[in-house]
Amino acid sequence: MMKLSRAEGDPRAANLASRLPSRPVVFAWDLHYSCNYRCPYCFYNEAGWTELAKKNLYFEPAKWEAVWSRVHDLYGRCQLRITAGEPFTYPRFDDLLARVSRLHDLQVTTNCSQSEAIRRAAERVDPATLEFDCTYHPLSGEFEPFADNVTLLRERGFVANVCFLAYPPQMGRMAEYKRRFARRGLYMNMAIFWGRWKNSQYPFAYTDEERRAIKETIGVEVGPETVNLEPLSNRGKLCGAGQRYAVAQGDGRVFRCGQLGHEGQSIGSLFDPAFCLREAALACEADYCRSKEFQVAWDETDREILLRENRLK
Ligand code: SF4
Repeated sequence: MMKLSRAEGDPRAANLASRLPSRPVVFAWDLHYSCNYRCPYCFYNEAGWTELAKKNLYFEPAKWEAVWSRVHDLYGRCQLRITAGEPFTYPRFDDLLARVSRLHDLQVTTNCSQSEAIRRAAERVDPATLEFDCTYHPLSGEFEPFADNVTLLRERGFVANVCFLAYPPQMGRMAEYKRRFARRGLYMNMAIFWGRWKNSQYPFAYTDEERRAIKETIGVEVGPETVNLEPLSNRGKLCGAGQRYAVAQGDGRVFRCGQLGHEGQSIGSLFDPAFCLREAALACEADYCRSKEFQVAWDETDREILLRENRLK
């Protein structure tokens, strides 16, 4: 097992645990389909950025505030996990964050490249209501400015962690990046690649050697970061996606989860005054749960009860 020396710091000590309270309802929100990077592994390449951009809605932050205020009326304070594209390229994103964070807890996934927009948000939003998942894309962005922005967020009191994708062409440098981040006092989480590379479908195509290398970089045999390295199907299992978890796409349409996000599968729209989530959990209809959404579709207590009653197996 690869070991990091003390001189390189203890990366585990610097992985900040989320301070956001558990909420009964979680939304993933695809804010817009636009990004300043074009990473080869992005799943939006497949659908096509030009086609996806037709769904983009560039509203004033006050309009989004009104939309999420209706959701607050229904479910109280929820957790919104904002992704895009790159959320910080959305116009007046700092204002949007400031307004919506008064209603809901926010978690933003970012490539951490938009230094000025990040600085503005850090100055305006309460760190108790906003956290960051910072994905490093070495094929598109420079290391030092990225690490500087993550460090700035941490200095301002935000939970901000680093993530690195186990995409085959960049796996050769993952241990090196893990050490470089550790020297900056940052823990680097590994994410498992879902997609095609060289006509092979990942994560199924990882070789035994690659799986070993990923686990060595993570530093444990089994843990939250190794979920999806050995994908399991949840098809037919009861799932809270659509009931206590949902994905809001850029055009406001809501879907049970990322896997069940195709035409004809929408369960409503944020812009419909009658919008609400499903009353009960439903069986999973997807082959694989790719983004750990099954895990967030339950809160801990419910998951324990359901597991005890053998209803999740
Ligand atoms: S793919 Fe995952 S989140 Fe979606 S319904 Fe199936 S288990 Fe639930």
